[in-house]
Amino acid sequence: MNFILKNWVKYYTKEAVKTLKIVTIGSAMIITIACVKYKPAYKVTLAGDTIGFIVNRDLIEAKIEKYIKDTSGNIAFREIEQLPEYEFKLINRDKETEEKNVMLAVQNMTTTTYKVYAVTSDGEQKAVVSTQEEADSIINEIKADLKEEVDLKLGIAEVYTTELNIESKEIATNTLKEFKVAKVTEYENKKAEEERIAKENARKAYIASRSKSLATTTTAAPSGNLNGMQLSIPVTGSISSRFGSRGASRSTIHTGLDISTSSGTGIRPISAGTVTYSAYKGSYGNLIIIDHGNGVQSYYAHCSALYVSVGQSVDTNTTIGAVGSTGNSTGPHLHLEIRIGGEPVNPQNYLY
Ligand SMILES: [Zn+2]
Repeated sequence: MNFILKNWVKYYTKEAVKTLKIVTIGSAMIITIACVKYKPAYKVTLAGDTIGFIVNRDLIEAKIEKYIKDTSGNIAFREIEQLPEYEFKLINRDKETEEKNVMLAVQNMTTTTYKVYAVTSDGEQKAVVSTQEEADSIINEIKADLKEEVDLKLGIAEVYTTELNIESKEIATNTLKEFKVAKVTEYENKKAEEERIAKENARKAYIASRSKSLATTTTAAPSGNLNGMQLSIPVTGSISSRFGSRGASRSTIHTGLDISTSSGTGIRPISAGTVTYSAYKGSYGNLIIIDHGNGVQSYYAHCSALYVSVGQSVDTNTTIGAVGSTGNSTGPHLHLEIRIGGEPVNPQNYLY
């Protein structure tokens, strides 16, 4: 019995080994054939699209991670909407497995944001450079020998952008230099215009004050003193031409003072004296001359009426004539002359 059992086990063991051998060889043959025709790979899909086949998944994942986390140069950060998906497959050996295409698809799906430095004026970007040092150095160069009054309000702004448009330092400096020249010119033109306006205003103010002072001299200094002799004004009115001034129609120095007032206004002598002339005399028109003694004479010209005659004694209460426009005159006024030793002096040294 034991012998029979032993033989039986022996027989079946032999058969089992034989079968196992056949199965093993068969499997090996199938695998060999499969390995000749197919290869194991990953199908890579991104957002539903197949973007390629790769063999080494770890390698491509490492490459993608390195690309996304790259912050070299001016890259601030990178964002990808979604990462690729991998599916293990046996693919035909002749099917290409290229990492390059996968990387291109990943890059297309990625947004890169750059950090750059803008040189600004009053908050407005004038030039964009790669580093803060460059921006600093440009500002220092532009500020050198800049007119103190010109404020370019320069600053530096960190700019995050997806469009990388960096200028070289040289180009940026030139842009800023042109801006500086334009600003300085603008400032100088403005200053010149302000000076011109200031001058114009000063001129207008001078003319206004002059005409005002002419208009307000009517009651100023109603009386004066000449060599101890008390003087009073012959008429009230406004000064229309001063002693010494050259009138537009005259080629000679003005020898008296013109006081404008209405025709017919009574004239009184500046001081008591004796009438030495009372008649028409050329450009003076109707003229009265009074001798006050001590070599002092006074002239009253362009009169419309003469009320005194030669030899008559007068004082400051005597109306000697009336204002008019006779002789060389463009309108009613009194031409008052004061002469000392025959020489005309400025009546405004004593009157008005
Ligand atoms: Zn005159």
